[in-house]
Amino acid sequence: MIDCEGLVKIYKTDDLEVVALQGLNLKVEEGELMAIIGNSGSGKSTLLNTLGGLDRPSAGQVKVGPWDLLKITEEDLVKYKRETVGFIWQNNARNLLPYLSALENVEMPMILSGKVDREYAKQLLEWVGLKERMHNKLHQLSGGEQQRVAMAISLSNRPKLLLADEPTGSVDTATSDLIMGIFRRLNKELGVTIVIVTHDMTLASKVDRVVAIRDGLTSTEFIKRNPNIGEGGELPQTPGKGLQQVHEAYVVVDRVGRLQVPKEFLSELGIKDKASMEFDGERIIITAPKSLGGE
Ligand code: ADP
Ligand code: MG
Repeated sequence: MIDCEGLVKIYKTDDLEVVALQGLNLKVEEGELMAIIGNSGSGKSTLLNTLGGLDRPSAGQVKVGPWDLLKITEEDLVKYKRETVGFIWQNNARNLLPYLSALENVEMPMILSGKVDREYAKQLLEWVGLKERMHNKLHQLSGGEQQRVAMAISLSNRPKLLLADEPTGSVDTATSDLIMGIFRRLNKELGVTIVIVTHDMTLASKVDRVVAIRDGLTSTEFIKRNPNIGEGGELPQTPGKGLQQVHEAYVVVDRVGRLQVPKEFLSELGIKDKASMEFDGERIIITAPKSLGGE
């Protein structure tokens, strides 16, 4: 579904250039439900906006299904955004119409694209747990309920790919669990590929695969050890710990052999811009420069 290789995104302001993505690699299979975690400023939103067609990539390869987002024309991009991809933000208020009902809100994108399917709109609201509230006006719903309406809206045009940027960022833990449960359900019912971006480790532990992004590069990948664990979201809640307990961690190595060594490791070993590397037949050992060390 997604294939990024060497993806670069540079933001240019007056006299400053920010390299938000520095040659990022990411592959996502069709039908996957996965998360991307990373600290604030690591490039998560930039990646998602690029995948969603809201930001143009600067260089590298970025393909979503049959679309090449580096080469896509403006005309096709409009089509791509309307038909292939759905988007959910942390704060969806700007995309919701407060004086329309939940159902009318879900039907709005269908009206805009000329294909209204009321039964499907109702089905979506049922899947997100709002069957009883679909005729309520948006402003009568709680923040968590509005977020679930936004989830239904994002799927109204039957996208193949759903992108969610910090979808649980402004809700409490109970609502966050509920929302993650809904993502799993939508993934199963519709087969829609879902990519969730978050800085919340506890949320990341509820999906099969997590890719960590650091300084605009994918650095580590966590793959669930036992797919039966955590089905009901009953994972350890300790931030950071949960992930290690159920996921196997792998360092991402790109096609030309580059990988990212955690900054803590480097500073612990006193490695700055050079290191010694040995291969003992089984392991690769990186140490502070030998010949340059000492005096
Ligand atoms: P995250 O979502 O992980 O917090 P972002 O993708 O928002 O990170 O930002 C990555 C980097 O790119 C940051 O250094 C940020 O300041 C910069 N950045 C993001 N958007 C813009 C923009 N529109 N103009 C200039 N710099 C930007
Ligand atoms: Mg962000």
